[in-house]
Amino acid sequence: MTPLLTVDDLAVEFATRDGVVRAVDGVSLQVGPGEILGVVGESGSGKSVTAMSVLGLIRPPGRVVRGSVRFDGEDLLTLPARRLRRIRGRRIAMIFQDPMTALNPVVPVGAQIAEAIRLHQPRLGRAAVRARVLELLASVGVADPAARYGRHPHEYSGGMRQRAMIAMALANEPDLLIADEPTTALDVTVQSQVLALLDTARREAGAAAVLITHDLGVIAELADRVAVMYAGRVVEHGDVHQVFATPRHPYTRGLLSSRPRLEAAGDLVPIPGSPPDLLAPPPGCAFEPRCALAAGRAACRADRPEPVVVAAGHLSACHFPEEPV
Ligand code: ADP
Ligand code: MG
Repeated sequence: MTPLLTVDDLAVEFATRDGVVRAVDGVSLQVGPGEILGVVGESGSGKSVTAMSVLGLIRPPGRVVRGSVRFDGEDLLTLPARRLRRIRGRRIAMIFQDPMTALNPVVPVGAQIAEAIRLHQPRLGRAAVRARVLELLASVGVADPAARYGRHPHEYSGGMRQRAMIAMALANEPDLLIADEPTTALDVTVQSQVLALLDTARREAGAAAVLITHDLGVIAELADRVAVMYAGRVVEHGDVHQVFATPRHPYTRGLLSSRPRLEAAGDLVPIPGSPPDLLAPPPGCAFEPRCALAAGRAACRADRPEPVVVAAGHLSACHFPEEPV
């Protein structure tokens, strides 16, 4: 399989008054055509910064200091701004947690989606564009699209706005969708409808997706592969069933056991402690202070573990991936 997206050794820093924040420090991951990669990790682990980097959206004081982002054979990090803008929106589309980051509050929703289509397909006639907008709105479950075409975002409910943003993201049939916590702000019913939409986009348009969420259940249901992030690094990466059935990194095991079981109403067992300060990350394994497996061992404190292959297509960045917790 030739990956559609290959992120290799990506590092992003933010210069702040207190020092340099190493937000992303050596992230590598791959997404195949039509595949859904789930990205999971506690808040602050670098998921959003990774996603923004892929789209060339890191702005000062942030800076990509290392690595490459190859999409369909081109390195997006060195592409001229004009070429990148063409790819963004047309071939790679982004879905945010807050639809208002993507929607313009003073422009009717229909006109915004029409504009997204015209930007990349300037030769399409007015009537054809309008018909396509109505079709898109209907396909994401916006009832009575003709009536809603001329309405402004604030006249839509939260769930409808999320759908409108997804319609806009799907407008140009992108090859890759990047969804950053797309349903976190929504109630459970709308959440599952929106996720079903993503799944439909994948099946019908063959779109690949990077799905960022802290909900392991969503990843188990939708993703083909999963990347587990901690302190700006990918600590485990592999087939979702394999990783969830036999997690090889203690952090992944911790996340999985902190999740309330669907079948037994067990208590949530949070991982003790908190992630390290990325202004001064520890020299060894960033998870060491919280890791039951490390137990003060010198290797964990002194050397940062690199991802190693623990099974076919399954990587873990732990010095002792063979040991049970
Ligand atoms: P996640 O999406 O996994 O919750 P983020 O990617 O948003 O995490 O953030 C990763 C790290 O980068 C965090 O420690 C965060 O504080 C830092 N960071 C993100 N944006 C900025 C910024 N504009 N300035 C300083 N630090 C930032
Ligand atoms: Mg985030």
